[in-house]
Amino acid sequence: MEAKYEMHLDFLKDYDPDIFKAIVDEKDRQMDGIELIPSENLVSQGVLEAMGSVPNNKYSEGYPGKRYYGGNEFIDIIENLAIDRLKELFGAEHANVQLNSGSPANMAAYYAAMEIGDTFMGLKLTEGGHLTHGHPVNFSGKLYNCEQYGVSKEDERLDYDAILKQAKELKPKLILSGYTAYPREIDFKKFREICDEVGAVCMADISHIGGLCATGIHENPVPYFDIVTTTTHKTLRGPRSAVIMCKEEFATKIDKAVFPGLQGGPHEHIIAAKAVAFKEALEPNFKNYTEQIVKNAKAMAEGLMDAGLRLVTDGTDNHLILVDTFGSKQLTGKEAEHALELAGIYCNKNTIPFDERTPWDPSGIRIGTPVLTTRGMKESDMKEVADFMVKVLDNAKDESKLAAIKVEVKEFCASFPFYK
Ligand SMILES: *Cc1c(COP(=O)(O)O)cnc(C)c1O
Repeated sequence: MEAKYEMHLDFLKDYDPDIFKAIVDEKDRQMDGIELIPSENLVSQGVLEAMGSVPNNKYSEGYPGKRYYGGNEFIDIIENLAIDRLKELFGAEHANVQLNSGSPANMAAYYAAMEIGDTFMGLKLTEGGHLTHGHPVNFSGKLYNCEQYGVSKEDERLDYDAILKQAKELKPKLILSGYTAYPREIDFKKFREICDEVGAVCMADISHIGGLCATGIHENPVPYFDIVTTTTHKTLRGPRSAVIMCKEEFATKIDKAVFPGLQGGPHEHIIAAKAVAFKEALEPNFKNYTEQIVKNAKAMAEGLMDAGLRLVTDGTDNHLILVDTFGSKQLTGKEAEHALELAGIYCNKNTIPFDERTPWDPSGIRIGTPVLTTRGMKESDMKEVADFMVKVLDNAKDESKLAAIKVEVKEFCASFPFYK
């Protein structure tokens, strides 16, 4: 197979050889290893080109047609295209494409929907929530009163009756669904019902599953939720960035929260790259891609379970898998992550529900299939990846064995080139 895409660094090569070398080494690391971090992806030529382009040079505070700087004729075309494509992709009433990343997107959404000190509900970090979903070390837990819900002890899944009961007691201003480490389908309709019953703003953060929601592979909450945030660099396969979609009712509040509430000049080169990514996601084959992500995750889950590993919820409905490495192999998440890294396989340590260890050295790892699927791998390849992983976990303390596996991993990856 031919590599599809190429970075252009011809000038940098001579002008700044140190940065040039580090970038090329990083590209080689991405190509030579098995990338399993479920929040990562590889972007196309179009996205790469737009990111490295001259709209970077422009100040355009405000919104299309209402800017605080002159000279925004072409910038407005870029931003309007990004907005229109995003609205079409998700069926959104209103879209703001200026968010610089997922965390500020959540900050802006809370700022628009709540007063400082208001109560909201989000999922605990240790059970799959994100730091910005109300963790005490994060602004979300400091500025707002976050009452967190958890998953059920029996099946490690969301317990909607318990969430409703908690919501009735707390009367939160907002209830947040959408997670960073939850391997199962989320029943967004149930969340809408719960919010209606207690009069809460219904918000989802679909940062991880955005690509799956855009194509209907996972239920898309955008048409009937009040506010939805998502990053654009995970399953949406765009630049490192984020967006907010909302009902018309929240449009002005969201726009004001983003600018002037939180951010200054929008990154219009990144907005151009988002527009390119949304064009790609609107193409029919993006649905096949997201379908394949899930098929691959299921195949990988099977491969790992066949080898005796315990997975949280015993499998997956989406792109990610949580492996209980401590319960299965007496390896902490930190040890497992390190051993895999020595073999050229990249994942992140992660807590599992009801973890008795700490987030810094938890009981599990989190893996996923977006990057491998982008490289063109299919179910049979996932079985091979699972075999590599099991081999690593069974030889986690044997550095020479891990180095030998790294060579095999590199050979395996060479069959799936992506960047030249
Ligand atoms: C990744 C993620 C974020 C944060 O995105 P950044 O771009 O890293 O700030 C927020 N929420 C969820 C659910 C995420 O998975």
